[in-house]
Amino acid sequence: MTLLREEIRRSGYELADAIFGEAGAMSHILLACEGEQKEKYLCPALRAEKLSCFALTEPNVGSDARSIETRAVQDGDVFILNGRKHFISNAPYADFVIVFAVTDKVNRGITCFLVDKGTPGFSLGGIHKNMGGGDRLGELIFEDCRVPAGNVLGKVDEGLLLALKRVGEGRLRLAAFFIGMADKCLQLALDYAKQRVQFGKLIAQYQIRESGMVKLHSSEMLCRAADKALQIHGGMGYMKECPIEGIYRKARASRIGEGTSEIQRLQLARRLLNDGPPNSFLE
Ligand SMILES: Cc1cc2nc3c(=O)[nH]c(=O)nc-3n(C[C@H](O)[C@H](O)[C@H](O)COP(=O)(O)OP(=O)(O)OC[C@H]3O[C@@H](n4cnc5c(N)ncnc54)[C@H](O)[C@@H]3O)c2cc1C
Repeated sequence: MTLLREEIRRSGYELADAIFGEAGAMSHILLACEGEQKEKYLCPALRAEKLSCFALTEPNVGSDARSIETRAVQDGDVFILNGRKHFISNAPYADFVIVFAVTDKVNRGITCFLVDKGTPGFSLGGIHKNMGGGDRLGELIFEDCRVPAGNVLGKVDEGLLLALKRVGEGRLRLAAFFIGMADKCLQLALDYAKQRVQFGKLIAQYQIRESGMVKLHSSEMLCRAADKALQIHGGMGYMKECPIEGIYRKARASRIGEGTSEIQRLQLARRLLNDGPPNSFLE
């Protein structure tokens, strides 16, 4: 599967990506389905008849998943859910949600529930406008939402284990995607460099030389700073409402306009060859 996923991103086929990407990954956690849950949730998910989403992150809780605030209180044969989830992929399109809520506050017991779209008390909140475009990231709201005890996925108070299993599988899936995408970038860049002519030669035949050292240094520094600032904001940094999102996009062009980084290096190398290193390099 990992090799397949690498190849999918290398090829760039969007449909295969959709099947083996986020939606396909969800079936992993649904393997915990038991009894009637298998026919209602697992099988339709495997047949791609039903789409689900994985709802763990909350406005106040991201990396620190054990501290989620969504609560589920048992009342006879139902659990009553209250809380809010955000940044949830496929939230607007999911037929059912795989959602995590605290069931034992003292011992930090977290339980996983399967909640159908249309269940009273469960609604879609806002859609997050984000760097990736589209409208697939959304908020989910649970207000006195009554979920049958039969919709507990796995065991009560042991939901976090399920979540961690899914996250582990997800990381492997993403690693395969990223390797495939990096290969695709390399291939595209190589193909272009072998056919693009500038100054009478293929750009692939040029090595690095220098032009504006300051421009080269500051543009690359800006991209590193924007990348780090986005990372420090976590998911919020990816959202349109956060100023970093716009800075990050604009910063990317700085390594291309007014002479690309490669052209700057080319000219720098030439000057080093002709004049020797400037004093500032020796300091
Ligand atoms: C495109 C996208 C899709 C998503 N899809 C889903 C989804 O389907 N379901 C879902 O539940 N969630 C989803 N998320 C949410 C995602 O899982 C969270 O954004 C992620 O867990 C980080 O949480 P946060 O954004 O709250 O950042 P925070 O946890 O607030 O982190 C902010 C920064 O602090 C750093 N930090 C936090 N704690 C520590 C520490 N102990 N040590 C060092 N550094 C630390 C982080 O690394 C980060 O740089 C999605 C997010 C994005 C961007």
